[in-house]
Formats: sequence, structure tokens, C-alpha cells
Amino acid sequence: MNGIIQDLELVSVTKRYGTALAVNAVSHRFRPASYTCLLGPSGCGKSSTLRMIAGHESVTEGSILLAHRDISNLPPAKRGTAMMFQSYALFPHLSVLDNVAFSLKMKGIDVKERRAKAAEMLELVDLTALADRLPAQLSGGQQQRVALARALITRPQVLLLDEPLSALDPFLRVRMRTELRNLQKELGISFIHVTHGQDEALALADEIVVMNNAVIEQAGPARDVFNAPKTRFVAQFMGGHNVIALPQGHFAIRSDAVGVTPAGSGQMEGHVTAIEYQGTYVSVMSRIAGDQEVTALVPDAAYFDAPHHPGDRIGLTWDAKNLHQLTA
Ligand code: ADP
Ligand code: MG
Repeated sequence: MNGIIQDLELVSVTKRYGTALAVNAVSHRFRPASYTCLLGPSGCGKSSTLRMIAGHESVTEGSILLAHRDISNLPPAKRGTAMMFQSYALFPHLSVLDNVAFSLKMKGIDVKERRAKAAEMLELVDLTALADRLPAQLSGGQQQRVALARALITRPQVLLLDEPLSALDPFLRVRMRTELRNLQKELGISFIHVTHGQDEALALADEIVVMNNAVIEQAGPARDVFNAPKTRFVAQFMGGHNVIALPQGHFAIRSDAVGVTPAGSGQMEGHVTAIEYQGTYVSVMSRIAGDQEVTALVPDAAYFDAPHHPGDRIGLTWDAKNLHQLTA
């Protein structure tokens, strides 16, 4: 949208509320023009981080740079960022068009020009036909697109989204995430999207930044974070992995990289504790030495060729290259 690719960087950013530490000296350089998801459990500091970037929350220590300029103390409208709120906060008495045009009105731009710009934004989010409606006459998904258009009309370099899909039903959530993803590519600006859902982050993000207890646990391309989690927390939070303690340390291995063989023939022996049919896969849960639980995801056809039952002894196999040693 701006033609210039801008770098956003957090330099040892800390947020305290009184004595409570919400964000602890976080440093990160966001990839320009990419879709980043800030992922982590509730209370880990995601929203505080996003609100500090937006300027809706003060930075206790550290600085926030955009295109090498320190924006930490600028008001929200002067930063080059825009935030789309979770509760879309639309003005109920204004039409869709005027909701979108509102921030330009505040800037003193005349009515003709701001309506023309707003109409452009409505086209971008595919809402041209609904320009004259009031927010109450829109579905949840349509209201969200209005909120998006309203944030984008300020031509931000970075769009910040705090759990933007959480109010939508599951069907609409999947559709909207595709739209968000396409919009980010089309605009070529950075989107930073807060979520606690690992599936949402995997579906959307070029880069995933996993937060836990006020710090970044791991950041990287979505596929790297999923395939090679560095810590027990990341392996467990991303899901789909086993964390196994072996004599050499703790390792993560994807459940679909664990195979089930007849007893006596694998790298390890296990006792089946539960079987769960999941459609494409069957989840075979077993207990191995040291009272550890291991889940193998077996393709359904392979499972039903040689089904197992709770109490059965089985062998478990894997390729050593799929074991990832964990650092914490
Ligand atoms: P997340 O978005 O990951 O759920 P938050 O950034 O909202 O996490 O919160 C991080 C921590 O800071 C939590 O312990 C939360 O209770 C606390 N917190 C957030 N906002 C405030 C506030 N305005 N005043 C006091 N504590 C807050
Ligand atoms: Mg939050």
C-alpha cells in the first residue's frame, strides 16, 4: 500500500502493571511485509505487546522502532500502525461508508474525498453493496470487514489484530482467515495477529512468535516452529507432538512420525492405553517405560489392517532424524 517495506522492531520491551510483569524484555524484529502471529496461552502478554506497538499502552522500558524510527512515545495515529479491535467498535448510528470514513473526518478531510477513499476501502473488503447499511444490519463477518476497512483507511504500514476471529462461528472463522491472509498479500504490508489458537497461527502465519510467561519462547517460520520446537512448552502448545525423556535428554517427535509395529520389533515397547478414531488418522495412545505416554497417529487404512486394543503390547518405531532435542 505504501510501496516502501518497513521494518518493525521491539528492543528489550518491558510492560509492568504496577509490580506485575506482563512483558519481560522482549526483543524481536518482525519480517517486513509478512503475516506474523503472536501465539501463546491466555495471560502470556500478547495483547500487552500488541497494544504497546499500537500506542494504546505505554512502554515501561525498552523501545519500539518502525523503519528505524523510535515510535515508542508517539500517539497511535502518528505511528504508521493501525489496530483492528476484537469488539469491532463500530458507530451504530453511522452508515458502513461513514464508519469507514470516520478517521479521515477527524483529520479534516472534506466529505467528498473521504467518501471516495472509504468507497475504495469497501471495495477492497468486498462490501461495496452494503455501503449504506447500519452496523446492526450486518452479520458478524460483515461487521468485521467494516472494522478492517476502517483500520486500513489510515494506510498503516503495520496492521495489528487482536484475536480478530474469536467472535466468529467456526465456519466463518476459516473463511475470514483466508480473506485476511489474501488481504495481507494484496496490500503487501505487515499484519501482526494475536491468537491463542495454534491451528489459526499455522494456517495464517509466515512467521509464528510463541510467547509464554511474558517472554518469547521461539520465533520462526510456521513450519520450523511446528516441526522443530525448541522447548517442551512449544512442543506441547503447538500440539501433535510427543515429548519423551530419553537418557540423552528430552526430545520432541511428531505423533505422525511414530509408527506402531508388533510387540518386540520396535525401538520401544508400549502398552496401548487408548484408541481414538480421528477420521484420516487413528490415534494410538500407549504407555512406555518411565510411565510416559506416547501417541502415534496411524493413517486409518494402516491401522485397520492391524488394529490394536487397550492393554495390547506394541512396538513403537521412529526415524532418529525426526527426534528434536529440547533445550528446556
Ligand atoms: P494475553 O493477551 O496474552 O492474554 P495480556 O497482555 O492481556 O495477555 O496480559 C498479560 C498479563 O498482564 C496478565 O497477567 C494480565 O492479567 C495482566 N494485565 C493485562 N492488562 C492489565 C491491566 N490493564 N492492568 C493490570 N494487569 C493487566
Ligand atoms: Mg489478549
